[in-house]
Amino acid sequence: MLRGKTNPDICLLSICIIISQHASILASPIEYLKGVGPLRGDLLKKELSIYTFGDLLEHFPIRHIDKTKISRIADIHPDTEYIQVVGKLLFFETIGENRAKRLVAQLRDGSGSLELAWFQGISWVQKNLTLGVDYLVFGKVGFFNGKPQIVHPEIEAFVPTVAGAKTHLEPVYPSTEKLKARGFSGRQIGKLTQQLIAQIQPKDIVENLPQALTQRLQLLPRFQAVRATHFPTSIQEYEKAIHRLKFEEFFIAQVRLNLVRLQRHKSSRGVVFEKVGDLFNDFYNHHLPFQLTGAQKRVLKEIRTDTARGRQMNRLLQGDVGSGKTIVALLSMLLAADNGYQSCLMAPTEILAQQHYTGLSSLLKDMPVRIEILTGSTKTKKRREILAALADGSLHFIVGTHALIEDPVVFNNLGFVVVDEQHRFGVAQRAKLWQKAAVPPHVLVMTATPIPRTLAMTAYGDLDYSVMDELPPGRQPITTVHRFEQARASVMEFIRTEIEKGRQAYIIYPLIEESEKMSYEDLMQGYEQVKSFFPEPKYLISMVHGRQAPDLKEANMQRFVKGETNIMVSTTVIEVGVNVPNASVMVIESTEKFGLSQLHQLRGRVGRGSEKSFCILLTGSKVSKEGRERIKIMCATNDGFLIAEKDLELRGPGDIEGTRQSGALNFKLASIVNDKELLELAKKEAEALLDKDVDLVLPENLMLKHFLQQQKGKTGWSKIS
Ligand code: ADP
Ligand code: MG
Repeated sequence: MLRGKTNPDICLLSICIIISQHASILASPIEYLKGVGPLRGDLLKKELSIYTFGDLLEHFPIRHIDKTKISRIADIHPDTEYIQVVGKLLFFETIGENRAKRLVAQLRDGSGSLELAWFQGISWVQKNLTLGVDYLVFGKVGFFNGKPQIVHPEIEAFVPTVAGAKTHLEPVYPSTEKLKARGFSGRQIGKLTQQLIAQIQPKDIVENLPQALTQRLQLLPRFQAVRATHFPTSIQEYEKAIHRLKFEEFFIAQVRLNLVRLQRHKSSRGVVFEKVGDLFNDFYNHHLPFQLTGAQKRVLKEIRTDTARGRQMNRLLQGDVGSGKTIVALLSMLLAADNGYQSCLMAPTEILAQQHYTGLSSLLKDMPVRIEILTGSTKTKKRREILAALADGSLHFIVGTHALIEDPVVFNNLGFVVVDEQHRFGVAQRAKLWQKAAVPPHVLVMTATPIPRTLAMTAYGDLDYSVMDELPPGRQPITTVHRFEQARASVMEFIRTEIEKGRQAYIIYPLIEESEKMSYEDLMQGYEQVKSFFPEPKYLISMVHGRQAPDLKEANMQRFVKGETNIMVSTTVIEVGVNVPNASVMVIESTEKFGLSQLHQLRGRVGRGSEKSFCILLTGSKVSKEGRERIKIMCATNDGFLIAEKDLELRGPGDIEGTRQSGALNFKLASIVNDKELLELAKKEAEALLDKDVDLVLPENLMLKHFLQQQKGKTGWSKIS
């Protein structure tokens, strides 16, 4: 009876053994591959981080070239990017000395001639290349003194293919200058890969996706996909192969993220907010200065549900600038207080913390809750008092900066943590906070500006996710224009007319990261210039920058907030959160130096009141193509979600603030910009699979489970939570 029924554990065990036996070939050190050896092996390790056979397999080609497709040199035109030609080398010539030394050769085919140049590996080239022999040359065409040139071409002896031979797609691999200089070009790497692929078999690259899935989505088997990504027999096969591998990357990542999230849901204990009490209700019914938007209500409901469940909430709240995230945070904090728990709100800068404190204090002025602020500049005596009140539980809310996560801060019963403008807080910092309570507090992370959906799905996919896609009613869209520096006088005139109407204006200078001194000088110069347009005492100007002592900064800010000064001249310290509804003009100097999301965030400082507001983007006459693109987008839309998407497209995921170190975006082939639909599909499939089998115990999911276990430690996933 029992025969024929396989025990899944034994089955898994035997699979593991099979895998580990055969995985060994891919784990072999790269120097053991024929044609590599210790010297080249070291180079591959240093230059491309290729340590094992497996690493070489995952070093994917950047493109394929059709060896049978040879162009004529005469066909090169200014738009030509890459070209493959066959010709003879006419002569070599060394030009320049020492570091500027380069070797130049002339390559001629029947139609014309082309210059080849080497800056490195000159002696290798001279020793190995011969004049008068036919070479197959491939490379990126540049123009030097108007003549076409290839620097560090890929070059090899030309072997004519039989006429009429079918297309032969040869992979071209990323290489480095250093490798190329040792004659180790992308093509040589291809030869190694070819040799390796010839040695491996399907069992060396085992399938990691369930069969039902690969069948339904018509995905190539994993082995075939890896092989064909390197050596496809046709363009179609290549496309299918790359599709399969990209899907796999997204799918595995989504499974991991969802597992982290689901595991947390299952296993984490959380503070229970059993009731909505008097504080919440009293505030909601009597002190709320406006009606909540539908989006605000929805998010509150999500938070309410989450915090009543007995597991830790870890929620990312996305909303555009001005969508009203603060009030959502406050109401949640009141909910915590109703249930006897303390809350803390962390802001990325002192100014912003101060502003939250002022804003929240005034909203809470008739409420029986105590709120304090703790930052780096809190005086010792006050600090001691606050720390004592936090420890004995008499303080309900604390607002602050990083100072809040320092060791001496002990809470009596921390239940709710709000992290505002989160991208400046690392994951480790967040984790430190929730170690401050026996049961981890609920965490609400609020973004400064929206994050593109695909990025949120990958970088923050382990968090629960709320979107506020609705602005409070009555907001007038901000009109944004681009002006060149020459128009400065008329821009100042415009500010004057707004000031005469009783409005206020910001003028923002970029903070140049590499040189604080330069930023400072720029700002001072700008300040003098603004003063010459707006002389005292008729006009009053505040200035705020990073070099000021905190009290001076604060005093200058406050004068502007209270409307005592007309103009705020500042660096980007003003960037986040500052709220002066009477300000109606935002002038941004050297706009080209800012990124899109930063510009959007800065612009969000105006348009906060009922008056029509304006944003003027100033630049010099020379603006890079990307700079122009950013300005165009800013002038075209006020929608932060759209801007976030564009930002991602322009800069690529690696550059989006706060995600660089997350390790979550290190896809080898897939791109969250170009493969959005595939990501959506992978997410859907991953969720469906885990819905059915969250512990991955079904036989069809065992290979996946094993794969995930093997991968552990290879990525930064396990650190996210
Ligand atoms: P952000 O989401 O950028 O942090 P804030 O919370 O600072 O936005 O809110 C921006 C402004 O909008 C504040 O002045 C706030 O008082 C106001 N506000 C928030 N919600 C509403 C609402 N539902 N109706 C009207 N005004 C609101
Ligand atoms: Mg805010």
